[in-house]
Amino acid sequence: MDMKKSKTTKCIVLVQIFVLLLSGCGLSAQPNEKKQYTKTYLDVFDTVTTIIGREESEEAFQKKAEQIHETLVTYHQLFDIYNDYEGIVNLKTVNEQAGKEPVVVDRKILDLLLLCKEEAELTEGAVNIALGSMLDIWHEARAEAIENPETAKLPDRNALENAMEHTDISQLLIDEEENTVFFADDKMKLNVGAIAKGYAVEKAIEGVTGNYLVSVGGNVRVTGPKTEEGDPWTVGVQDPDHPDTYRYKLCVTDGSVVTSGDYQRYFEVDGKRYHHIIDPKTLMPSAYYRSVTVVCKDSGRADAMSTALFNLPLEEGKVLAEKTGVQVLWIPISGDPVMTEGMEKLIAPFSSRFSGKTGR
Ligand code: ADP
Ligand code: MG
Repeated sequence: MDMKKSKTTKCIVLVQIFVLLLSGCGLSAQPNEKKQYTKTYLDVFDTVTTIIGREESEEAFQKKAEQIHETLVTYHQLFDIYNDYEGIVNLKTVNEQAGKEPVVVDRKILDLLLLCKEEAELTEGAVNIALGSMLDIWHEARAEAIENPETAKLPDRNALENAMEHTDISQLLIDEEENTVFFADDKMKLNVGAIAKGYAVEKAIEGVTGNYLVSVGGNVRVTGPKTEEGDPWTVGVQDPDHPDTYRYKLCVTDGSVVTSGDYQRYFEVDGKRYHHIIDPKTLMPSAYYRSVTVVCKDSGRADAMSTALFNLPLEEGKVLAEKTGVQVLWIPISGDPVMTEGMEKLIAPFSSRFSGKTGR
């Protein structure tokens, strides 16, 4: 989640849309008085949001979609590390001030940070929001490369190593009584790009019942089956080589599907691609997979896990998947895709032969 607005990033994030609306996974649709409606928004998390739901009237749908969207806007503004919003203390404010003194924040920020601390611990730092100072350097290199491709260059190794000295998440101090955030290391910066989108989606569908699907840039969360008859939603997993087509179709009736991939945001130097998920062990774009897809109930957890698993060797990833109970599809850089048992059951028949176009 990069919230810096630029035409170039917009173009790249467009390929992240992969909600697939095919006719189900085998169950036949019965005529019903409810109809399916769709609404798209372009103003949160610098990506495309799609809300699909079944309701008896368009008004009922619009009302729910707007409610979901409003929550997303709230979280987008609070979690933004690039832009200011009048009267709002957000993570940009925190990054600017928390190294000097404790900053009083909205409880929603505290809750996100508490969860992020847990995820960093659980994954032994494979996903770590305190990597901000180091990630800023990659972000800068990518922005410059996209602006001026002919002079694209890699970040300076020393700068990355120095920044890495300031990424210890235990230096992020949260006071739940005072509602404050403080950085014990004043050079530390937060970057919640790996978790915030999925977390916000989870919050936005809280209390939403019925047959809804919310996708924020491909972070998909469904609140029940697609139809009252129980037909599942079909969520496509993009082919990393051809992101406008799908490699697999997953049938889901509840929970979330989140993918981290090397084709989502990247830049090139001397014909080599450098993507946006950085392995804290090498300080380089992680080099195990083309994509990792996670299916589990909570979309914040799915988002955190997809990034973490993208940074972990397969054997370690399998242990983590087992421990956290998430289903995973790994598409390695070389070799065949690997998946957990539960994931196999979600894959629609003939999926691997499927090559439908994305809906964009
Ligand atoms: P996306 O948001 O593009 O769907 P991810 O959820 O995998 O993809 O998050 C990637 C974003 O997370 C990067 O753009 C960067 O801001 C941040 N990030 C990159 N590497 C890490 C890491 N090892 N730990 C935490 N955050 C990371
Ligand atoms: Mg993620």
